[in-house]
Amino acid sequence: MNSLLQQLTEAVGISGEEKEIRRLIRDLIQEHVDEWRVDSLGNLIALKKGTGESDLQVMVDAHIDEVGLMVTDIDSDGTLRFAKVGGIDDRALLGKVVQVGPNKIIGVIGGRPVHLSTAEERDTVVKHRDMRIDIGAKKKDDAAAKINVGDRAAFVTQYEELGETALGKAFDNRAACAVLIELLRGDRYPFDLTAVFTVQEEVGLRGARVAGYAVQPDIALVLECTPAYDLPKKEDVSSNVMLGHGPAVYVMDSRTIQHPRFVAHIMQVAAAHNIPYQIRQPGGGGTNAGAIQPAHGGVPVASIAIPGRYPHTPNMIINLTDYANLLKLADTVLRSLQRNLFEPESIL
Ligand SMILES: [Zn+2]
Repeated sequence: MNSLLQQLTEAVGISGEEKEIRRLIRDLIQEHVDEWRVDSLGNLIALKKGTGESDLQVMVDAHIDEVGLMVTDIDSDGTLRFAKVGGIDDRALLGKVVQVGPNKIIGVIGGRPVHLSTAEERDTVVKHRDMRIDIGAKKKDDAAAKINVGDRAAFVTQYEELGETALGKAFDNRAACAVLIELLRGDRYPFDLTAVFTVQEEVGLRGARVAGYAVQPDIALVLECTPAYDLPKKEDVSSNVMLGHGPAVYVMDSRTIQHPRFVAHIMQVAAAHNIPYQIRQPGGGGTNAGAIQPAHGGVPVASIAIPGRYPHTPNMIINLTDYANLLKLADTVLRSLQRNLFEPESIL
């Protein structure tokens, strides 16, 4: 059992309320870094000094927040109305168990029973506005004694390993957080490495925007978990990326065209070290690279990601060999970085 993945995925940290996951990561890294600090948004920024062989300033980013819900009101019957924090499909909500607020009050996301729905209703998606979180309170005051409007509600999922795969919540992006923690635990790099565990990615890359400016790196590598659309399968439907086929290398998404030389370097390093990889189908989605790239005079960025099935639901699945290969690829790419790769002449 990978206890690092277990701890990170079972911890709670919905965008804007990342205290629990941030503290856990701080505890896990503090003996392995030279300095750490938390900025005003809540980004955890840690410096691992280099051996002094290179003066490059390298930033590695992994967002720590997860999607979830926020209580917006309490009804007279004691049930909780909620909004979504980050992109969640309403179809993933009904009947799921959540933990609400700092005291982790357990509730169920309830709606009209299937028995009492009309045929027409069963063919349409129940909107989250028509669902409530039921925490067992009888009336508004009972619920208000335990819950505040603005409290977050997180999914409850126990980490499990199923053969070569792992099941858990929030592998987006805790799998990448685990990789970044392992990088910090390893040997020093030739250059100073600033690890940034960023907040509020799921609501628009907000933490990374601030961190990119503050850190002012020469280059930045973003570690992510990207949606695998390889199940259920339909003929001629693109898989985007597939589980078990190695880490995914971004070329372009809706936020960023990644630095072409950096992308080529990643693929060359993977090939030279026999690390499997796949190119993520260019298209929708985005990573913190979109916020870091325009900082200052522009930062060369690349993103590599572990494929994850069923993202932004309570139950994701990743492949543990992909996880090991993402760690290997990130470490090998970093150890082979040379300044000349990123100088403007390399693009000319
Ligand atoms: Zn993510």
